[in-house]
Amino acid sequence: MALLITDECINCDVCEPECPNNAIYMGEEIYEIDPARCTECVGHHDEPQCKVVCPVECIEFNPEWREDRPQLLVKFERLTGQQAEAGQQSD
Ligand code: SF4
Ligand code: SF4
Repeated sequence: MALLITDECINCDVCEPECPNNAIYMGEEIYEIDPARCTECVGHHDEPQCKVVCPVECIEFNPEWREDRPQLLVKFERLTGQQAEAGQQSD
């Protein structure tokens, strides 16, 4: 399940650099999470890092993006594979 930033976000900029998958970006008004890139931090950390650092607790699970742990691990592997490929290309 990907995470979702609600409109209580105060644009404090704290979560964006914490995301290991570069899934968080500034949207039109508040920060947003790309659900295709969010693994709940599976593969990187024990807990969703954005949720841990958010000072106003405005990050929730996205009920429209349901995935179990094996699916999240597949997503993690796909994303890290892409990063490895990008790294090789820039060498
Ligand atoms: Fe990024 Fe992890 Fe937050 Fe998902 S849960 S947006 S992967 S920091
Ligand atoms: Fe918004 Fe929370 Fe991220 Fe700050 S940490 S930008 S309040 S979602």
